[in-house]
Amino acid sequence: MANMTVTNAVILPMTQERRSFSGYVKIRDGIIAEVGEGTAQVTNDDHVVDAPGCALLPGLINAHTHLYQVLLRAVWEDLELMPWLRRIYGCARVLRPEHFYAGSLLGCIESIRSGVTTVCEHNFLNPSADCAFETIRAMQKSGLRAVFARTVMDAGEIVPDCTKEKPEQAFRAIEAILTKHRNDGQLSFLTGPNTPPINTTTDLLHEIRRFADDKSLGISAHVAESKSVVECVRREHGKNGVVEFLEQFGIPAANSIFAHSVHVSKAEITILKETGSSVSHNPVSNMMLGDGVAPVVEMLRQGVNVALGTDGAASNHSQDLFDTMKAASLLQKVHHQDAGIIDPYSVLRMATAGGAKALGLDSICGTIEVGKRADLILLDIDTIHNQPVNDVFSQIVHCAKASDVQTVIVNGEILMRDHEFTQLDDKKILADAKVAHRDLMERLSGLSF
Ligand SMILES: [Zn+2]
Repeated sequence: MANMTVTNAVILPMTQERRSFSGYVKIRDGIIAEVGEGTAQVTNDDHVVDAPGCALLPGLINAHTHLYQVLLRAVWEDLELMPWLRRIYGCARVLRPEHFYAGSLLGCIESIRSGVTTVCEHNFLNPSADCAFETIRAMQKSGLRAVFARTVMDAGEIVPDCTKEKPEQAFRAIEAILTKHRNDGQLSFLTGPNTPPINTTTDLLHEIRRFADDKSLGISAHVAESKSVVECVRREHGKNGVVEFLEQFGIPAANSIFAHSVHVSKAEITILKETGSSVSHNPVSNMMLGDGVAPVVEMLRQGVNVALGTDGAASNHSQDLFDTMKAASLLQKVHHQDAGIIDPYSVLRMATAGGAKALGLDSICGTIEVGKRADLILLDIDTIHNQPVNDVFSQIVHCAKASDVQTVIVNGEILMRDHEFTQLDDKKILADAKVAHRDLMERLSGLSF
């Protein structure tokens, strides 16, 4: 791992203090060794990245997605959550490990192109053990920092038998993944119930909390995504909301990340705050499925940690966190009919430091600070649509595009330099994904839902 210095950039540390300055970052052994103002003094063994006209910021963190779903862009886009989920789950009947590998790798390079350096894959379809292993192989091949959330479904009329697991059977499968990969440097793990209570029994909820504690794993779950999920919890479990329902099993906790959390009450936001639970806000997916508007402003005001996610491309169409940041900002403004209800710094914090905290990586990444791993992106802001710069934070949220991402560094390694991948053959990855897509579509055409 070479010594590297990125200099002459506008540095956005994204710490608690809203601050930007012209300066440099020195990287030693993959770690941020020095952050300073002005032009860096460099040594002979330094790899120098001179970046005038660029903003240097922490790599974006996609806290919730399903990578393989890039193969399913715009396939079922006019359905609300339950009929849409029936089809997504139904895919388990035909999905093969090779679809997960090719689709996930395409999802990873789309992520890198849009400035993502950490991705959390919420995995929930496992018709065979290799589906998880092939997804992990794709994430590792990409060079991204990755979190693999291997979740479980053990019930639900819309869940095909091939991907329904008894808890003990699922836990054995998760143990096998941990045995093989737990010590892999850039990879970490979560577990969880997939979408309680529509595809989980109460037995699973009890047991998965025990299992997660026993293995020191955090929890990832889809929570209160649509009104129909809340209606289910009221009808079948007599609770007012999903968070309230999950509380009796100890699922909300400081190492839990709840995707969506659209339909949560004030009392439930208090539970999220008091338990230290994080939320992954996925505004584009919520809008695409017509789910509703998550109470993000209320959560932030109460001190709940909020991260940002794209969700899978089957309900977002893309893996672009720039789209997601802009949507997160505009959605709250229009929902509250108040242009000042959310500030762009908070939105950019959700996509960086908020994501890192939600995934248990806040000592590793999410801000530009000495001692953290060098997960950094250079964004070309000397472009027509970004100039002139009056407020760099607002303009990154509202003007910048994924195509402005010039260079991507993960763990001190350059994955993309001047818009070109350095370690991956993107043309081959795209060609392989097209082959996998054709095969998947052919298999899907034989299914009825
Ligand atoms: Zn999801």
